[in-house]
Amino acid sequence: MNAISRPSSLERHPGSGSEILLIVSTALRSALARVESDLRATAWQDGLDLLAVVAGLKPVCAIGHDGRNEGWAEALRAAAVRAGWPAIDAAPWDPEPPVELLPDWYLMATARRRANRQVLCICADDAAARDAVTLSTKGRVGAAEEAALLGYPRCCVAEQHSRTLDIEELVAQTAERAANGDAGRMTRMIEAGAAPLPRSRRDWDRYSDAVAITPAANTSVNMCSACAVDRPRPAPGG
Ligand SMILES: [Zn+2]
Repeated sequence: MNAISRPSSLERHPGSGSEILLIVSTALRSALARVESDLRATAWQDGLDLLAVVAGLKPVCAIGHDGRNEGWAEALRAAAVRAGWPAIDAAPWDPEPPVELLPDWYLMATARRRANRQVLCICADDAAARDAVTLSTKGRVGAAEEAALLGYPRCCVAEQHSRTLDIEELVAQTAERAANGDAGRMTRMIEAGAAPLPRSRRDWDRYSDAVAITPAANTSVNMCSACAVDRPRPAPGG
C-alpha cells in the first residue's frame, strides 16, 4: 500500500513536454483498443485526466479500479511511470460530513469499506504523492483539500460533496430501516458496498435531486449549479 512506482532510472523521461505527451497519449490509445466497449468512455476520461497531470494542469489524477478495469488501470500506471510520474495505490476517501449528519455505525462501516478498496493516484511530483497519501489516510476529507489535490474548482467539489453526503444520509437511514435496526446487518450491508434504494416518494425525490449531476465535458468534474449555467467556467480554485 502506498508504494511509489517509479521508472528504473528514477528520472523523468528526458524528452520535451510535447514529446512526453505524445509518448503517453500513444501508449494510452494503444491500450484503449483493448478496453471493453462499455468501459471505453470512462477509460477515455481517465486517460484525459492522466494527460492533464502530465501537461502540468493538475497535481493528481485518481482512478478507481474494481476488477473490471484492472487492465486499463495498469496501462495508465505503466504509461505514467515510463514517463517518470510517481504512481501510488491508496485507499479512496469520502466527503467529511457535518457533525452528527451520519451515525457512528455508518462512519465505521464506510471506513472499513474504504480500507478494502484502492485508487490509483498518478501524481505530478513527490509532494503531490504525499498529499494524496494524507487524504487517503484521513479517509473523510474537506472539499477545499480534495479540490486542491485533484485540480478541480472548489465550488464544484463543495457541491458534489454536499450531494454525496445527502445520498449517504439517505442510504444510512434506508439501511437502518431495511435491517430493522439490527446493527450487525446494517453494518455488513454498508461495508459490502450495498446502497439500499429509497422506498418513499419523498426519499426518491431527495435521491433524484442528489444524483442529478452536470458533468463538465472532457473532464472528471461534476459542475456546481453556478458553473453549469456559466459554461466558460469551471476554473480551478473557483
Ligand atoms: Zn463550480
